[in-house]
Amino acid sequence: MTRVLSDYQIGTADGTSLGSSIVKVMFKALKEKGVAFYPNTKALDLVLKNGVVTGVKVRSGNEEFVIPTKNVILATGGFAHNQKLVKKFAPEWAGLPTTTAVGSTGDGLEMAVEHGAKTAYTDVVRMNPSVHSENGVNSSLSAARAEGGIMVNLDGKRFCNDYYPDYTQLSRWLQKQKGSMAYIVIDNKAMKASKRLQGFKDKGYFLQADTLAELAKKMGVPPKADTVRM
Ligand SMILES: Cc1cc2nc3c(=O)[nH]c(=O)nc-3n(C[C@H](O)[C@H](O)[C@H](O)COP(=O)(O)OP(=O)(O)OC[C@H]3O[C@@H](n4cnc5c(N)ncnc54)[C@H](O)[C@@H]3O)c2cc1C
Repeated sequence: MTRVLSDYQIGTADGTSLGSSIVKVMFKALKEKGVAFYPNTKALDLVLKNGVVTGVKVRSGNEEFVIPTKNVILATGGFAHNQKLVKKFAPEWAGLPTTTAVGSTGDGLEMAVEHGAKTAYTDVVRMNPSVHSENGVNSSLSAARAEGGIMVNLDGKRFCNDYYPDYTQLSRWLQKQKGSMAYIVIDNKAMKASKRLQGFKDKGYFLQADTLAELAKKMGVPPKADTVRM
């Protein structure tokens, strides 16, 4: 069966991760503009005088100091790694693993709220329905859905479109499946067309089989499941 492969996802020419490539370019631009850069420095609090932010208190190693400033842009990312905030703002998803970076602890959000800032849309969370979890590491398998995979439940049945309407709704549907889990089935054509899928394969994320019957057996799903016919 012909699978429509995603044509909107952007990758780098050499197949390396997009994020780290963007960081290289941004870091070069910062240096060229002479912007002061504080690596390995954690923002601890906002410093206020008469209700106006005048600096940021930070820690670098054992040293704590204040960086004086006229303005502060809080860009400390999301809060998926902070269960206290997940329970508070998005209780529907509390207790689930996350693929976000370990720095997503909502520090900026907490600092701002502490000083009386109002929040908006903190309940809007994007859940990822396709995650490979192993040894405490959660890796996103979105590419496997975007680039030709189909999701089937433990009965070997499709229970949703693989990419639409949106990640969070797919996650809700997935949560309702047996074991709250699904397999992503990928054929050889999709595998050959995607460097990222080959990368997942090399990492050992996939079960492999030459026939669907054999694959169904390895997956532990009924071999005649109607949806594992591609
Ligand atoms: C697996 C995955 C795949 C994704 N794929 C895509 C995609 O294909 N396309 C897309 O557009 N988006 C994608 N996203 C979303 C995208 O990565 C985020 O929306 C984006 O990174 C958010 O940028 P940000 O600058 O707000 O926060 P972040 O990128 O999280 O940056 C925040 C930074 O602040 C640092 N920080 C946190 N607290 C402190 C502190 N107290 N002091 C100092 N520093 C601190 C963090 O360590 C981090 O470096 C993906 C996200 C994930 C998790």
